[in-house]
Amino acid sequence: MTDSGRRGLVCDVAISGGGMVGCVLGCALAQQGLQVALVEQKEPQRDWPVEEVDLRVSALSRASQVMLENLGVWEAMGRMRVSPYRRMQVWDAVGKGSIQFDASEIGEPDLGHIVENRVTRLALWERLGEFDNLERLCPDRVVQISLEQDGARLELMSGRTLQAGLLVGAEGALSPVRDMAGITSSGWDYDQHAIVATVWPEIDHEAVARQRFMPAGPLALLPIDDGRCSIVWSTSPDEADRLMGLEDEAFLQELTAASESVLGRITKTGPRGVFPLRLRNADRYVMAGLALVGDAAHGIHPLAGQGVNLGFMDAAELADVVVKAHRAGRSLGSLATLRRYERARKGANIAMLGAMDLFKRLFSNRNPPLTRLRNLGLGMADVSGPIKHIIMRRAMGMTGERPTLARRVPWQPGGGGL
Ligand SMILES: Cc1cc2nc3c(=O)[nH]c(=O)nc-3n(C[C@H](O)[C@H](O)[C@H](O)COP(=O)(O)OP(=O)(O)OC[C@H]3O[C@@H](n4cnc5c(N)ncnc54)[C@H](O)[C@@H]3O)c2cc1C
Repeated sequence: MTDSGRRGLVCDVAISGGGMVGCVLGCALAQQGLQVALVEQKEPQRDWPVEEVDLRVSALSRASQVMLENLGVWEAMGRMRVSPYRRMQVWDAVGKGSIQFDASEIGEPDLGHIVENRVTRLALWERLGEFDNLERLCPDRVVQISLEQDGARLELMSGRTLQAGLLVGAEGALSPVRDMAGITSSGWDYDQHAIVATVWPEIDHEAVARQRFMPAGPLALLPIDDGRCSIVWSTSPDEADRLMGLEDEAFLQELTAASESVLGRITKTGPRGVFPLRLRNADRYVMAGLALVGDAAHGIHPLAGQGVNLGFMDAAELADVVVKAHRAGRSLGSLATLRRYERARKGANIAMLGAMDLFKRLFSNRNPPLTRLRNLGLGMADVSGPIKHIIMRRAMGMTGERPTLARRVPWQPGGGGL
């Protein structure tokens, strides 16, 4: 990175937003020798009581694990806490339909890991600090952008200026860079809020991730390796307000009932948090000089735990495209380069957004014939080995074309690998 006086800092790629997705992209590009600047408004949390589980957790797929391994952060995450889940049980509150997924059926040790977002972010943030060719500008924010045919010029709140071959918006759902570029999004409110908390069940969860679909929304009980569960309880905004207003004891009673006592009584809860749920997709992921990744590009219902996994795939795909262009001496920010990224990711993300939306609608419906049909469908899928195997491999992100970073080989950017 050079500081060229009047033009300010000059870099190959400037990333606005150092959440999980922005950090994965930063590591991936820096690891391949590009000059990177990452602008983040807030340092990650560094210390927390060892027994405390963060309210925000994510189910990380195998593909995400592989990426984090290839970036050299998975081990550090493991030292903090990652909780494998070996089975998944999904059932319909209306009727008897249910389906079980077991990692051993496809010869895998687990289906994925439940990880606190702050663990992933801190491990990535520390890794970013090891690169001489990456500068973390924090705390800082982008206040003005000017996009050019093959690059971008940025002004930061600190007064610094940056000249980049490519600007990437990775600031999550409210991405200011996306708004400054005038990129609109399509989507709708789900009319659901998700309540999250860490809870203590009476019965051992046995590393099974459980999800019960109720007409008002799904309740997920995600296993933490010390026996606790992280819950994501999606329901109508009014019902979420009511549940959030309850004393702990009353909340626990309702939670036990909503979980059909599958883990016995839920005996204790930590603090609760609530998130409104929206489906969103940016109408474009790229413009000359700019690309969007992660929640800045899309927002998905958490019922399948795919949000950050899709974001990591965005980052990995963009890294492939940018590294290739860099090696070939082509412009990083030109539309010709960036459209390859958009083509690879927009369709895949829309397909996942659509599938989850359909799922949500299907299970919110109380229509008796439809209820019978979905119960039948769950039952049939449960006894069909091949269908279940496909679903498992897909959810783990282990099917189809994968960007280089998501392949289990020493990372050869821009191609090669398995
Ligand atoms: C209840 C719930 C449960 C979920 N469960 C799962 C799950 O199980 N699995 C899964 O894959 N996904 C899950 N998700 C989705 C997942 O949390 C998101 O997809 C993920 O956090 C998006 O990461 P990101 O880095 O794109 O954005 P964010 O996590 O929003 O990070 C954005 C970063 O940008 C920074 N920033 C913001 N504005 C600026 C600015 N102006 N300048 C500089 N920096 C800025 C922020 O400080 C932050 O660090 C869940 C979401 C919810 C709400």
